[in-house]
Amino acid sequence: KKYQEGMKKTRNSFSGKLNDLIARYRKVDEDFFEELEEVLITADVGVTTVMDLVEELRMEVKRQNIKDTNGVKDVISEKLVEIYYGDDNEKIEKLNIQNEGLSVILVVGVNGVGKTTSIGKLAHQLKQQGKSVVLAAGDTFRAGAIEQLEVWGERANVSVIKQSAGSDPAAVIFDGLKAAKSRNADVLICDTAGRLQNKVNLMNELSKVKRVIEKEIPGAPHEVLLVLDATTGQNALSQAKTFSEATEVSGIVLTKLDGTAKGGIVLAIRNELKIPVKYVGLGEQIEDMQEFDANAFVYGLFE
Ligand code: GDP
Repeated sequence: KKYQEGMKKTRNSFSGKLNDLIARYRKVDEDFFEELEEVLITADVGVTTVMDLVEELRMEVKRQNIKDTNGVKDVISEKLVEIYYGDDNEKIEKLNIQNEGLSVILVVGVNGVGKTTSIGKLAHQLKQQGKSVVLAAGDTFRAGAIEQLEVWGERANVSVIKQSAGSDPAAVIFDGLKAAKSRNADVLICDTAGRLQNKVNLMNELSKVKRVIEKEIPGAPHEVLLVLDATTGQNALSQAKTFSEATEVSGIVLTKLDGTAKGGIVLAIRNELKIPVKYVGLGEQIEDMQEFDANAFVYGLFE
């Protein structure tokens, strides 16, 4: 229900345009495909992904001998889902949380994308699932970041391990690991500073943090989540590229999907970067985040 509500803008825009296209064309021809490409690109599906998709669609339409545009809707949905998953057909790609021992989640992303909010929402969700959660305030760089994380810690009712502003993020996260272990916590979520201006610095900082984590907990971090703002469109895609060059990203949190009609970015991210979108942000409140399900997303577009 919330999901449908949060996706309203994308859904209205996309299904409106698509239905209009189908009504106007009736016959599936080259012009139809060209206009369909435009509709998809406008929804931020991304040029490369659109080209892949429409090529697949052409072949499928030929194979099934579809002449009428009404018959093409289902094929579009099927192909969108296929494009999303690529070769690995897993349906919902769950967060990697260990059954035993401490799971460590590192959260990265540039300022303003909704990183702090998403950490708060995630802590809340994990708590709802009966997990005990600790947060580490590893963004020691941005003014107010620590205090803001503390506010979310209070909302989610989890403790926040911190040092003063400007201190070494790796040291804060080290403290977080110690605290989480001594409290027998299930999950430690580590905030980090997202300075993209200098890729070398970013890379060094993240690898230092990762070394500290690995040393304390072999096999950790279990997730490196990159937070991206859906309203920034193709810019989000380029941020994802830069971050995945700096560190191994295991999943995406795509925020503010409620604020854009261009939700197609989710397909571009998966198809072009091969990184699964694990959560989508659909509002500013603590409950407004959901696991991403490509089937529900794609079929929701046509309702
Ligand atoms: P940070 O700088 O990356 O930590 O970003 P914040 O967590 O402070 O979020 C920046 C702004 O985006 C805040 O006003 C949040 O309320 C808002 N925000 C975060 N996630 C979402 C979302 O999913 N939907 C909407 N509409 N707003 C969001």
